[in-house]
Amino acid sequence: MIPIAKPCIDEREAEAARRVILSGWITQGPEVAAFEREFAEFVGAGYACAVSNCTTALHLALLAAGVGPGDEVVTVSHSFIATANSIRYCGATPVFVDIQPETYNLDPKQVEAAITPATRAILCVHQMGMPCDLAELVTIAGRHGIPLIEDAACGIGSEIFWNGKWEKIGKPHGDAACFSFHPRKVISTGDGGMITTRHKDWQNQFRLWRQHGMSVSDTVRHSSAAVVFESYPEIGFNYRMTDIQAAVGREQLKRLPEIIRRRRELACVYQEALSGVAGLKLPGEPRWARSNWQSYCIGLPDGCDQRQIMQALLDRGIATRRGIMCAHREPAYRKEPWRSVGTLAASEQAQETSVILPLYPDMSAADQQAVTEAIRYCLIPECVA
Ligand SMILES: *Cc1c(COP(=O)(O)O)cnc(C)c1O
Repeated sequence: MIPIAKPCIDEREAEAARRVILSGWITQGPEVAAFEREFAEFVGAGYACAVSNCTTALHLALLAAGVGPGDEVVTVSHSFIATANSIRYCGATPVFVDIQPETYNLDPKQVEAAITPATRAILCVHQMGMPCDLAELVTIAGRHGIPLIEDAACGIGSEIFWNGKWEKIGKPHGDAACFSFHPRKVISTGDGGMITTRHKDWQNQFRLWRQHGMSVSDTVRHSSAAVVFESYPEIGFNYRMTDIQAAVGREQLKRLPEIIRRRRELACVYQEALSGVAGLKLPGEPRWARSNWQSYCIGLPDGCDQRQIMQALLDRGIATRRGIMCAHREPAYRKEPWRSVGTLAASEQAQETSVILPLYPDMSAADQQAVTEAIRYCLIPECVA
């Protein structure tokens, strides 16, 4: 059986977790602080704040942007449902715009039309690790004076050409970027998240909110020679990462350059091996983008049945997943407010016709060849009609 994904995790992470467990300090503390410093350095960010997952990261980033009840946030429906949900947590309404089919990313041309006096933020997504058009989005956000939040859940290590050089996603180029360390992403801490920002005041807010709105951190209180009484100036949340997770994350971060090198190599092999299959739509990087290939997502030729192709691959021992879902079509959003600008036809089409292929760093050449051969076998006879 060839799985869809496989985390790169072994004795090194187990040893790091063990070290923390035996240290006597297991939740948010020195390991979280070190992970934040190392993460900020990796992406080139001014500030990084670790949280419990990317969904809570998105919630805090939107709150820092001032998003509240009655506001609107422009985003995509074509994303993991947490993107839209984070807007609803703030009591705001998601305004969905369509995607560009080649990159599965938000179409910047449609964003401008979606902006109204109620728009409080733009929430863009680097879908499946492919950078979205930040140059355009930063310009639009700047022109309207609204914050740009990047859902970079899948985007760790992806790059964008910016002012003459390659920069990492999460610098951030918008106001804040949110990352996920769920096992389906490129590096994992089991669950976990990180927010990077350019704003010192946002960073201070994140730190307050993630720890119940408490005025002093545990580490400060613990190391103080004088008795310290904390206070709670505002309502916060418990969105902490544990030190056990952070220690695992630090080890994962060390592997990241090699993980990305390998993912890019595997994506290249798919690109070459599948480029000859008639009608198959392969993902492509814009000139100014380098993906980390968190997912390699293909568009099936017209007339192919997605479920049937996926089943045929599964019957040959190959796990796949359908492409990204559309939040507006889920039952939850029959009850929730949202609106769209223009049609969401490309988003719906992508959901119905795309398939994610297995890709993980220790995938063997033979396994990858088995995948590409099975795709040829499944597509060529069945799509003739
Ligand atoms: C995975 C994912 C999330 C949610 O991340 P969690 O860490 O699981 O909360 C949000 N947005 C996108 C685009 C994702 O792929």
